[in-house]
Amino acid sequence: MEQSIIYVIAKSGKPLMPTKNRKKVWYWLRKGLARLVSCEPFTIQLRFETSSYTQAVTAGVDTGSQTVGVAAITNAEVVFQAEVHLRTDVSLKLTQRRQYRRTRRRRKIRYRAARFANRCRKPAWLPPSLHSKAQATIKAAQQVATLLPVRQIKVEIGSFDTQKMQDPETEGIQYQQGQLQGYLIREYLLTKWQRQCAYCQKSGVKLQVEHLTPKSRGGSDRASNLVIACEACNVRKGNRTAAEFGYPYLQAQARVPLKDAAHVSSIKTAVVNKLQEQFGAEHVAITSGYETKYQRIQVLDLPKSHTNDAIAIACEIGEEVKQGGHVYQVRCIPRGNYQLYNGKHSEHRVWAPQKVKGWKLYEVVEAKGQVGYIGGRRLKGSFVVKALSTGKTIMEVAPSKLVRLARPVHGWMISSATETFISTKEERATSPV
Ligand SMILES: [Zn+2]
Repeated sequence: MEQSIIYVIAKSGKPLMPTKNRKKVWYWLRKGLARLVSCEPFTIQLRFETSSYTQAVTAGVDTGSQTVGVAAITNAEVVFQAEVHLRTDVSLKLTQRRQYRRTRRRRKIRYRAARFANRCRKPAWLPPSLHSKAQATIKAAQQVATLLPVRQIKVEIGSFDTQKMQDPETEGIQYQQGQLQGYLIREYLLTKWQRQCAYCQKSGVKLQVEHLTPKSRGGSDRASNLVIACEACNVRKGNRTAAEFGYPYLQAQARVPLKDAAHVSSIKTAVVNKLQEQFGAEHVAITSGYETKYQRIQVLDLPKSHTNDAIAIACEIGEEVKQGGHVYQVRCIPRGNYQLYNGKHSEHRVWAPQKVKGWKLYEVVEAKGQVGYIGGRRLKGSFVVKALSTGKTIMEVAPSKLVRLARPVHGWMISSATETFISTKEERATSPV
């Protein structure tokens, strides 16, 4: 079994370097030289003064709309990795609240004046659903900074960098498979051709970089000679040019460079701005998706997952790191039930108690050898246990069968469950023969 990493916090509250020396940690805890801060992730605070010498820890954040990957690296070793599953119910809850208020206004009961026309939006306003996601991403980065002496936070923004491309169509960088530049051009082409096959417009399949005029017939590796195609079209086209294949207009289309490619989502900008505010602009770095992909596939040789992407983001290009530790599963939860009355017609207070048979919602539990969290409590007495990584119902069991692993803290639940979620197979940059 892999040795787990124990996070250490100095007497002053500042994070120190983590340790794997369990014996020493148990000794400290037994002698009262340290106190336990949290079990998940296992963190202790020292009660005696030590030298506050720390090494540089780099954290990588892979932003996403459903899942955020977070990883921290020091001395070419991964010391923290977590998958943060964001809330997806925010807009639904707001719709529900709006409807409740609307129906109440139509009836002669508890009334809340309509104030939607009496509100202004601040400059950096985000819709509530995105705001919650951005906040959770920032919180995850802060969480790492409380466990480890993080010097630099890296965030991926956009899939490629137009500034590094200069003039991709005419001169300079050429496409070569498996190279950093190759990944850059590939991401560029994917955006330019809207991530679909240039011939059959199919999307959601494995896409390859394809030469309009084949290399064997003198076609160049420049972006103006390249399109994105599915494997079937690529094979069917074979050694013909695009015009011979029946797509004469593609060559002209390929010569037009992509304008305004650096589209960055509002949530990523918000995350970067907030992190720069809190950690200082010099401690926040920005990377591009093609660099992450190159680093993950060519250097680290890791499968696609949110944490592996975060590891690749945290690395320097070409840096090899040792994998280590569990992947923590983190799930964001509502801070409380703000619904006061049952249903939209009811004037009865919500009766659901905080605890049922001593159990609260969102406690991490083990039952029948599986790890999950309490997602619901049924009237008939059974509890619904859901998976931490997917949020799907695993089983319904009697509360007497449950074993408590962790309670929700700081608005999320954390578990070091060993199951890691690996998404579908990787599409690799391939070039036609
Ligand atoms: Zn096709």
